[in-house]
Amino acid sequence: MKRVDKYFSRTGSLIQLMIISFCLLAIALSLWKLYIHQQHSAAADYKLLAAIPPEEIISLQKYKFESWQDYVALQQAVKIFTNKEKGRGEEKREAVEEALRALQAQLDCKTDFKNLDWSIVSKDIKKKAGQIRKILDRYPVYQPGRYEFPLARSCYYEDTFGADREGGKRTHQGTDLFDKKGTKIFNVCSGTVEKLGWNRLGGERVGVRGEDGNYYYYAHLDEINPQLWVGKKISKGELIGTMGNTGDAITTPDHLHFGIELPNGEWLNPYPFLKVWEFHKFELTGE
Ligand SMILES: [Zn+2]
Repeated sequence: MKRVDKYFSRTGSLIQLMIISFCLLAIALSLWKLYIHQQHSAAADYKLLAAIPPEEIISLQKYKFESWQDYVALQQAVKIFTNKEKGRGEEKREAVEEALRALQAQLDCKTDFKNLDWSIVSKDIKKKAGQIRKILDRYPVYQPGRYEFPLARSCYYEDTFGADREGGKRTHQGTDLFDKKGTKIFNVCSGTVEKLGWNRLGGERVGVRGEDGNYYYYAHLDEINPQLWVGKKISKGELIGTMGNTGDAITTPDHLHFGIELPNGEWLNPYPFLKVWEFHKFELTGE
């Protein structure tokens, strides 16, 4: 009898163990799914931000400083809607643009974003505008003072993200900023040094994991700041190194290759962000 009891209690605890393991596995799986989903939606949000023309942000921060996010969200939502509806008739587009002007006028009169007369636009536009407004708060890449332009003065750079490299073998995953050899390069976002030293394409390079989770990549440096090491905390504005043409830039003029990699491994076009940070550093704060 004792033996049978023992047998049943052993089987019982085995079943319990299996149930517990199954539950733990299910929890781990759903957490992992949630994590992947978050990374995916963060990447989509960042891409939406990168698609906003920097001139629009700059102009609104210049002239509507207190509520530039409201104007940006409104304008972008209408733009996304009219692009989608392209070819559906001039009349409809004009009506939407007129509604946009009316809502902008309400913002000019200091009406709160939530209390605008949303009945004059479609639910889609209202929803999109609300979504963009939240994204602008959640990811403060365009908020003055949060990030820093990497050089101490303005310089020449173009939007070449996605251009062919090595005869089409790969595409350009960043922005090249041109200035003299030895020009000091500063960190754009506080974080931790994650990579440092030589790699084939980047030459002397530094990679910083920002507090925002993104990876900031500085390549072709002439010299890396000797006071940096992997794992060191680094503040926004701290010296990264100096401009050069190391790595595959050896045949090109001196420049900084600057890249932003999202936590999901996708590279983001840094150009619009650089344009806005440049404005913050040399125009906005100078006033
Ligand atoms: Zn480059």
